[in-house]
Amino acid sequence: MKRHWWLAMGGNLGDVATTLLGAEAQLAAHPQIRLVKCSRRYRTSPVGADAGTPFLNSAVEIETDLEPLDLLDYVQAVEKGFGRVRTVHWGPRTLDIDLLFSIPAVIQSTPRLTLPHPHLWYRRFVLEPLNNIAGDEVIVPYGHPVNDFMALWRTDWRVGIYSATARASQNDIIRAVAERFPLRNITAWSPGHPRPELLAVIGDAAGIKPLFLSLPDDVPTATQALIDAITAAEDSPVPV
Ligand code: AMP
Repeated sequence: MKRHWWLAMGGNLGDVATTLLGAEAQLAAHPQIRLVKCSRRYRTSPVGADAGTPFLNSAVEIETDLEPLDLLDYVQAVEKGFGRVRTVHWGPRTLDIDLLFSIPAVIQSTPRLTLPHPHLWYRRFVLEPLNNIAGDEVIVPYGHPVNDFMALWRTDWRVGIYSATARASQNDIIRAVAERFPLRNITAWSPGHPRPELLAVIGDAAGIKPLFLSLPDDVPTATQALIDAITAAEDSPVPV
C-alpha cells in the first residue's frame, strides 16, 4: 500500500549538514521512494548523559509502497552508509533516522518498530522540524495534529510521576530530577487528578491513557530517562 511517511533525521558527528543532504538524496534514489518535502535544519541540544555536542536535526516526508519493516531496513542501511557506529546508547552519531508516523497510519509496537514513534510527542528536536513540514497532519491514533504537540511545550508545563506500586522509587526519582530542574514543577501524580503535560509512569501503566513516558523500576535508569525527556521537551531548537 502507498503511504506518506514522516521521518526524523539528526546527527552530531562530522559535517552533519552534508550528511543530511546525502541522506535525503539516498532516500530519493530508492526506486520505490518519492521524496516529497524536506524541512529546514535546526540546531538542538544533545539529549542523554553521553550525547556529546549539539545536534543538527531535520524531518522529511516521503511517499512509498515499501512495507514498514522494509522501509526501516532501508533507512538503517542509509544510516550505516554514513558510518553510524552504535557504541553508547544515545551517544554521538553521524546520522540517526527514525520513522515517525504515516498516512494511512500504521500502528504497531514490536521490538524492531514502534509506530507512531513513541517519543515524538515531547521531543522538540523531532517536533520542530516536523512542524516545519507537517504542522497540520493529524497523528493517528492520538487524534492531534503535530502543532498541538508543539504548543504543549510552550506553556508552563508540569511533570508528574506515577507508580501504582513503587512509591519509594517514585519519591527518589522526583527528588533526583527536581535537583536537576529546580525551577520546574515536578510532583507525584495519581489517577483522578488533572494530567500534567509530561506524565511519567513507573512500571505497570494499566488504565492510564496515552500519552505518557514509560519508566523502568530501576531508579537510576528511570531518573536518567526522565531527565532526558525533560531536556528534550525544554529544548528550543534554532533554525539554521
Ligand atoms: P536508536 O538507537 O535510537 O536509533 O534506536 C534504533 C532502534 O529502535 C532500532 O533497533 C529500531 O529497530 C528501533 N525502533 C523502534 N521503533 C522505531 C521507529 N519508529 N523508527 C526507527 N527505529 C525504531
